[in-house]
Amino acid sequence: MVSMPAAASDWSVALTFDDLPKMGGGDCAQTEVLSVNQSILDTLDQFGAPAAAFVIPGTPCQGDGAASAASIARLWSSRGHAIGNHTDTHPDYNTLSIDAFLADAEAAHRALVPVLDSASQRERWFRPPLLHMGYNARRRIALDAWMFKRGYRLGVVTIDNQEWVFAAAYERMLKDGDAARAEAVADAYVAHIMESVAYHRALARRLFEREIPHVILLHANRLNADHLADVLDALKAGGAKFVRLETAAADPAYRSPDRYKGPRGLSWLLRWAEAKGVRAAPEPREPEWIAEAARRPPSP
Ligand SMILES: [Zn+2]
Repeated sequence: MVSMPAAASDWSVALTFDDLPKMGGGDCAQTEVLSVNQSILDTLDQFGAPAAAFVIPGTPCQGDGAASAASIARLWSSRGHAIGNHTDTHPDYNTLSIDAFLADAEAAHRALVPVLDSASQRERWFRPPLLHMGYNARRRIALDAWMFKRGYRLGVVTIDNQEWVFAAAYERMLKDGDAARAEAVADAYVAHIMESVAYHRALARRLFEREIPHVILLHANRLNADHLADVLDALKAGGAKFVRLETAAADPAYRSPDRYKGPRGLSWLLRWAEAKGVRAAPEPREPEWIAEAARRPPSP
């Protein structure tokens, strides 16, 4: 007889995927864009896991027709997932003028409203690229005012992580035809996610003296097309229940003050920690060999 894990270890997490239709820097061919999205959607179905997908309508990493950003957004929406605005071309709010950045966010709004309307999605979600909210009060206030005008809620992230670095390393290994090293990257990826989860759950318990529902940031990429099931298996084994973004964000913890006005793209747990005067340990990083592989130019 196998004993059941203690109920006390149960916790909930909303899965969110950025950079749809596909994270840049890798293969953006039409067939690859379609295949990545189909595979991630099939895995989510298999686990009965709802997700929120943050779309970049103007990204160069898309195809025509069914592989266009709008079609991929409709596909996710038709499979029951929420769609969010991640700006039109993924600019960095730290380097662009306020007006240019908000015009880019507005362009994504125009592109995505028809998708949301046809799916009767009422919730409007916005998440800035790199989680950059504006490095001073003026920038932050301008972004908040634009979100308010357009009825957006912020797509807060509690479990930020280095998944995007693993994804870049993974695509590099595949391109080099090194399947064995690609599998090693995938194994290290799952281990890193679990380490990140443990870090952020512990920080949340310190801040709120209870377990809170979390929001994890992932991306639409080949790594998740091939290995999201491994991540979801590991999360489930650790007591995770998969919930919708609006369910997680309805928790009172998400109304905590965020007074951080700096250049970094921080998890909201670190922003809330700062407002509460709590000093957090450094976040888990990727192993150096992963970072090195992600940086390496393609083999000739
Ligand atoms: Zn992004």
